[in-house]
Formats: sequence, C-alpha cells, structure tokens
Amino acid sequence: MTTPHVPPEWAFEFHAHECPFMPIGYRMGKLALEHLGVGKEPDHGFFVFPELGEGHPQTCMMDGMQVATGATYGKVMMAKTFYGKLAATFFHPTRGAVRYSLLPDFVDAMGGFEFFAFRKRGVEPSQIPLAVRREVIQWVHEQPDEALFKVEARRGFTYAPVKGSFAKTRCATCGEYVFDRYLRSKDGRPACIPCAGYEKTVAVER
Ligand SMILES: [Zn+2]
Ligand SMILES: [Zn+2]
Repeated sequence: MTTPHVPPEWAFEFHAHECPFMPIGYRMGKLALEHLGVGKEPDHGFFVFPELGEGHPQTCMMDGMQVATGATYGKVMMAKTFYGKLAATFFHPTRGAVRYSLLPDFVDAMGGFEFFAFRKRGVEPSQIPLAVRREVIQWVHEQPDEALFKVEARRGFTYAPVKGSFAKTRCATCGEYVFDRYLRSKDGRPACIPCAGYEKTVAVER
C-alpha cells in the first residue's frame, strides 16, 4: 500500500458503501491539510469548494473530503461550484488555498477497472461484488500521489463566509422561528419564505 491516507472504517460506515471515490476524496483532503500545514478542523475555520457537479459517480469524493478535513456540509464549510470537474479547492483563512484535481491519465487508467463496467450498466456501488470494488480501491491505494493529483497553489484566493447570527423571529403566519437573514414580510408582518410566498419576497434589514 503506497498511501498512508486510507479512510478509517467509520468513514465507510458513514458513506454507507465501499467505493473508490470516497477514499480518493479522503486522500485529497488529507494531502490538502498537510500542504497547508493544518490539522482536521474542529470548528469553522477550513473550507472546501468541490468543483463536482451532479449526475456523475465521482461525487462520492466529497464524503471523503469531509471526513478528512472536518469541513463538513453540516457546518456549512463545503460549497460546490458545480463546474462538473474532478477537483476541489481547500482554503484556510491564514494558510491560503490549494487546488487538487485528478489527472486525466489517472482517471482513464481507473476507468479500465471492472467496477466502471458495472457502474455504466447502472449498477449501484453496494450491488457490485465486493471483490470488484476492493480491486479498484486497492489499486488506487497503490498509486503514488503524483499519479493521482495535480496540485496548484491558489494565491490570492479569498472567501468571506456569512457572518454568524443567532437573531431569529417568529413568523406571524405559521408561528415558527426563522433566522433573520431569511425573514420576509407579508402584509407588513414578519413571515418565513414559504408563508411569504416564493415571489416578490422582501428582505427585512435590522
Ligand atoms: Zn461512494
Ligand atoms: Zn411561516
């Protein structure tokens, strides 16, 4: 095994199936942390901007990135660009940003594995024989980092997250709380987006 960056068992449990892409994302995230000289993010200080889109199997990479970096979807540390590319930019406010992308030759070589013959026939990963899945996962682990990734420092990259606020108001129509950034008004009274209707919404500044 060439890479030390093999996902822990719980990562596969979280992801819910064994596939090659979650481990690739995990490795990408681990290498990006090393490159930027930081550890797994416990709170809200590390961001990942995957360029993946939807409707292609490689999106599994994003679960691995979250596991490795702690920059999770739930903490709103991850935002997709929807470029439909096999890449991601990792950003730390003081350490800078780095972009990792999968090399086309690696993607082509990987595409020759039986795993993809199943996927192209529409077979879901969990339904593919485990030996077929582990064959490609093992092969990926054996490839050196340089064979997988192009690495580019992104000098000047910057990102300003939304400022956190606990301010919330009860919607005058449904009575449920809505955070003030999302508050709208209906007949001059505070309303949530569904109660205000999705058209002609007016943000209330306070
Ligand atoms: Zn997967
Ligand atoms: Zn409401």
